[in-house]
Amino acid sequence: MKIHEYQAKEMLASYGAPVPRGIPAKTVDQAYEAASKFGSCVVKAQVHSGGRGKAGGVKFAETPEKARSVAEAMLGMKLITKQTGPEGKIVRQLLISEAVDVEREFYLSITGDSERAGLVIVASAAGGTEIEETAKEHPEAIVQIPVSVIEGFKSYQGIRAAEVLGLEGDLQKQLISLLGKLVKLYLEKDCSLVEINPLVQTTDGKLLCLDAKVNFDDNALFRHPELAPMRDINEEDPKEYSASLSDLNYVSLDGDIGCLVNGAGLAMATMDIIKNFGGSPANFLDVGGSATTERVKSAFEIILSDGNVKAIFVNIFGGIMKCDIIAEGLVQATRDMGLSIPVVVRLEGTNVDLGRKIIEDSGLAIIAASDMADGARKAIAAAKGVKA
Ligand code: GDP
Ligand code: MN
Repeated sequence: MKIHEYQAKEMLASYGAPVPRGIPAKTVDQAYEAASKFGSCVVKAQVHSGGRGKAGGVKFAETPEKARSVAEAMLGMKLITKQTGPEGKIVRQLLISEAVDVEREFYLSITGDSERAGLVIVASAAGGTEIEETAKEHPEAIVQIPVSVIEGFKSYQGIRAAEVLGLEGDLQKQLISLLGKLVKLYLEKDCSLVEINPLVQTTDGKLLCLDAKVNFDDNALFRHPELAPMRDINEEDPKEYSASLSDLNYVSLDGDIGCLVNGAGLAMATMDIIKNFGGSPANFLDVGGSATTERVKSAFEIILSDGNVKAIFVNIFGGIMKCDIIAEGLVQATRDMGLSIPVVVRLEGTNVDLGRKIIEDSGLAIIAASDMADGARKAIAAAKGVKA
């Protein structure tokens, strides 16, 4: 789960991390009122995407009047950044942030490191909006410092980070203290990313988190009911959102073959085999090992709500999940929704005969496949409107 910058900064502040003063605003009047408290300010589009600065989503305003006119232009605009894709994101909220005088910009983040089974602090003296370019052209300028999840943050890791950023004396102390708070936040809230870009050194010698991104591990959200109100479903793909309500692992893609699969590994293999035969998957979907008829039905509904889908490939290996359950869900869903596009089904495993019989008896025009390759070929042909 992602949250907005203003929410991330509120959370950082609650952990004692230094952030500039800021006030969220949903209307032009609110923006004006907030800006009046600061003199000069920065008006920042609140969308779940980085790269806003380069796309016109971060603007300096010397006066509250200027903030008003900037807010007027920004609210409701479609912000297209490097990260949003061409469809962009509508700006529904702003953060009015007190302007600060910046001396230097740094990059600082904490994320999981599966290889080391721990955390890693990522630091670079080349922070700011060019960090992606730095990563590409000067990867050596970005340094990783491992942190154990058992031992937590240690000062020597902070000393190393300060060395990377070129911070000494009091600034080094500030950095060590900040890192301790960020690691604490990361661990306590089950984050997947805490990123401060830029972390800045102000002209009066203070470290400040000028931008903040905090992402949470979806699999741990059940431990954090306090985070639920921060979710902004306007920022999420509606199909992925309804999938999450049905406990489905769903990722929306841009192809035309809807995939309904059980097991993440099989779902990946299904996408691969579709690609291998020249097709393009419309989604990743793992209905899970314990899917009920209801869940299979909602999976179908979500796939069908995608206007790009021209054929569906159901690829099931019945292990814990039995083929007859899938078949029943399939038949019910297609009956209820009036299936308008071809469905190719490959069933294998537990209760496969029963499952095949349910489909046959249903009289529905479902295309049977003998194996994965056969299914992929048939689905690709069906999406093109030809017979395999
Ligand atoms: P992003 O482009 O989405 O990552 O948005 P940021 O919040 O990082 O803002 C982009 C850039 O605007 C930063 O890297 C800073 O250089 C600049 N910026 C943002 N806020 C301020 C501020 O209060 N004062 C100054 N001087 N620059 C700022
Ligand atoms: Mn940034």
